[in-house]
Amino acid sequence: MSPAQYEKLQALTGPRYIDLLTHLPTRILDRSASPTVANAPVGEVATLIATVTRRGAVPPKHIKRPLTIELTDGTAPLRAVFFNPGAWLERAFPLGEQVILSGTVEADNKGKKLIHPDVWNPGKSGAESKHKSVARIWPLYPLTAGVGQGWVARAVAEALTYAQKNPLPEWLPNTQHLKLNTFTQALAAAHTPQTEEDLLPAAPARTRLALDELFATQLALAHARATTRTLSGIAHGTQKTLMQKLIKALPFPLTGAQKNALKDIHDDLSAPRPMLRLLQGDVGSGKTLVALAALLRVVENGHQGALMAPTEILAKQLFAQTQKYLQPLGVTSALLTGSLSAAQKKRLRQHVAEGFVQLIVGTHALLEDVPFAKLGLVVIDEQHRFGVHQRLTLGAAESRTPNTEYRIPDLLVMSATPIPRTLALTAYGDMDLSTLAEKPPGRSPIQTMVMPDSRLAEIATRLQGALQKGEQAYWVCPLVEESEQSDLSAATQRAEWLRAFFAQAPITNHQSPITVSLLHGKMKAAEKAAAMEAFAAGHTQVLVATTVIEVGVDVPGATTMVIEHAERFGLSQLHQLRGRVGRGTRASRCLLLYSGQLGEFAQARLQALRDSEDGFYLAEKDLELRGPGEILGRQQSGEVQTRLADLHHHKSLLPVARDLAEKTLAAPLKAPQRNALATLLTVFNKQTAAEWLRGG
Ligand code: ADP
Ligand code: MG
Repeated sequence: MSPAQYEKLQALTGPRYIDLLTHLPTRILDRSASPTVANAPVGEVATLIATVTRRGAVPPKHIKRPLTIELTDGTAPLRAVFFNPGAWLERAFPLGEQVILSGTVEADNKGKKLIHPDVWNPGKSGAESKHKSVARIWPLYPLTAGVGQGWVARAVAEALTYAQKNPLPEWLPNTQHLKLNTFTQALAAAHTPQTEEDLLPAAPARTRLALDELFATQLALAHARATTRTLSGIAHGTQKTLMQKLIKALPFPLTGAQKNALKDIHDDLSAPRPMLRLLQGDVGSGKTLVALAALLRVVENGHQGALMAPTEILAKQLFAQTQKYLQPLGVTSALLTGSLSAAQKKRLRQHVAEGFVQLIVGTHALLEDVPFAKLGLVVIDEQHRFGVHQRLTLGAAESRTPNTEYRIPDLLVMSATPIPRTLALTAYGDMDLSTLAEKPPGRSPIQTMVMPDSRLAEIATRLQGALQKGEQAYWVCPLVEESEQSDLSAATQRAEWLRAFFAQAPITNHQSPITVSLLHGKMKAAEKAAAMEAFAAGHTQVLVATTVIEVGVDVPGATTMVIEHAERFGLSQLHQLRGRVGRGTRASRCLLLYSGQLGEFAQARLQALRDSEDGFYLAEKDLELRGPGEILGRQQSGEVQTRLADLHHHKSLLPVARDLAEKTLAAPLKAPQRNALATLLTVFNKQTAAEWLRGG
């Protein structure tokens, strides 16, 4: 394998041999049938030995002509057909010599043939022996552009050999009841599936590996919990005049769910240990007000508050949203963005350091080096990267020096990706949870339609009607592969197609032309923000985007969401995207376009989405309805990434893993066990917890 090939492979699996080994096959190919050519059943996969009797010259590259190679095994003639022949075929099919071929047998009036068969030369060991090594059940792996099955299989085999020579210490106590005693055995078994059942989550190897991963996750969480418990936080004062003024000024009452969440938060704020709470609720469930109410209490009682968003544009929007409430209350707040001049930034930092600014809004990155005088509460909005909050608290813990009496600020994390309870246990097991399951009254539902993309022109025509009434639309382009490049070209092409479509359509009387803009991951942050802002301000009518659309951006004029290749997205992702519309008073709609025939799982997913707008229901369904290898992208559930555990099918292992983690840490650990557990944590990329264990 060349270095370039290795690089591609690593981009697919991860850099370490163990990452490669956790890239598990999703299908099998049974090559074990090895009949003679005469006996090979048509329509089935066969692995054959045959001698090359005739091979025409490989045509030059620019001439597209198939190449047929003739062979025989003495029982019947056989042809191997290649539609894009290359020079390698001359080496692969030496005249007069035996080769091993594997593929689906076809037949026509000239006899049997294999289209694009896989081919092996016998090599030193001889045809019989090579044939034996090929004629078996092969695991098939998920691939990426430029990485073939052969490479992955070979690299996995090397990694397995390495793993078997360098066994990892055992970390699961009492594995006797498990069928596979060691992690390495389980990995080896997972890479040599013999039946379709071996690929299922319930297979012994997959179960053992899932348990390992969940155990690692739970250990890391137990560590985080233990750390938080030892930190000293702030017991905030209980003055709530500002907060009550805010609530009174609202043109609507708080929902029951908002009140409950606020009560949880108040209890945490009063307690002397740091709050670590997740507030989850669908898009539009009213999380911002809950956060603001909490921030007001903290500010009124003498501390500063920070409100962080994942991007500049979201920070700006959040700031604008809060200003209308804060200004009448006389709270001093500021927006910290990357576009401030150095002098402005310096002044702002000084005002924060002096405690003059009570509430500061900005992005995660910008807030990290702000010298707060008395930071009391940090709110992270639209958190969707698992682990950020842990780094934050731990970072805070480490910055504590023995002689300053630093107290950890309270932390409230908000997420618009609803997580089912089982998952919350995994992803946020170190946090307390408040949920806004109820939406404020009076929202009009979003009409969701599922259609084939063959109706594109019809859809564009109807869209044009809405656009001419002054409405706006998002158009999300297919996630073709896990490669930005192909996403980009699909989005670019669609934007051009729409421009051309709207340009040739008759312009009705006074209408100004429809503008279509493009947003994709390769754009610079400033370009992205500009495109997004132009759309938010209504200067562009259609925003064609890859899935980089900012979570949480509020564009009330956007009434239509079109998602191409909706069958390739996970339910939660589709639900998130749909949540971009339906924020104004106008009726809105979401069009889910699919291509070709819908698979069973994809069909069920799109149907669930059409039937429900309940994020929690959809999140549960999302876990249930993931066909193996059907969805692209790794962050399907938004919050939790697992490689080996299937969070739906391995649900029952979660409490087992949690229990195991707690028991393990409750007893004193001997050095070898400590080391084994640290290795486990490293395998699953939980470095912080691993270091903590190694450090004793
Ligand atoms: P989230 O951040 O959860 O997506 P927001 O906090 O942005 O949602 O709220 C969405 C909209 O709902 C805002 O316009 C907000 O003013 C409004 N809203 C919040 N709480 C209520 C409520 N109790 N009743 C009616 N409208 C509400
Ligand atoms: Mg919000």
